[in-house]
Amino acid sequence: MEKKEKVMAIYTLLDGLYPETIVFLDQKDPFRFMVSVILSAQTTDKMVNQVVVPLFKAYPTVESLANADILLVEEIIHATGFYKMKAKNIVACAKTLVGRQIPSTIDELVKLPGVGRKTANCVLGEVFHKPAIIVDTHFGRVVQRLGIVDTKDPEKIEKEIASILDPDFQYRFSMAANLFGRTTCHAKKPSCPICPLVNLCPSADAFLKGSSKE
Ligand code: SF4
Repeated sequence: MEKKEKVMAIYTLLDGLYPETIVFLDQKDPFRFMVSVILSAQTTDKMVNQVVVPLFKAYPTVESLANADILLVEEIIHATGFYKMKAKNIVACAKTLVGRQIPSTIDELVKLPGVGRKTANCVLGEVFHKPAIIVDTHFGRVVQRLGIVDTKDPEKIEKEIASILDPDFQYRFSMAANLFGRTTCHAKKPSCPICPLVNLCPSADAFLKGSSKE
């Protein structure tokens, strides 16, 4: 099977499995959503959803966060880890965006403090409904195991899949593959015996025989 054909087959199966796109972060306002994604590095979405409640209560606008006392921001977001860097980034990001709209291109988004390609693609897909391949730990693991890519480099994964998959399907594919990684293709013990993608997966045999070196 050609790679393009295989990716479409995987997309179709995942799309059927998860007909609804589930976004794990609660905040819907574009700026708040972007801040939530920045805070989500190395922590759980559940933790972020908790921490942003007092954060946006204390700083409800871009302007107020831009003028925030960084030590107070650190205190509020402490539980998300890497809190010093995250506090510095979200306040700097707010300063950059006072009086401006959030940019809608990846080139402009990645110039914002604390915004890498993963965050930028989340914003492109969720806020602007643009094509977006979001490479996080779950997505990267799934596409490698399925043999769609042969690299661990997130930017290479993003660009390779973006070059294969129709732009209209990219954001849906990102979210569905992410959910599939969380629920089925687990990091430690993937559920290969019940996996609907088993016939398309070159890693399945090794896991089923218990011989995977992962
Ligand atoms: S067969 Fe196993 S390793 Fe392959 S995608 Fe399914 S759960 Fe993941």
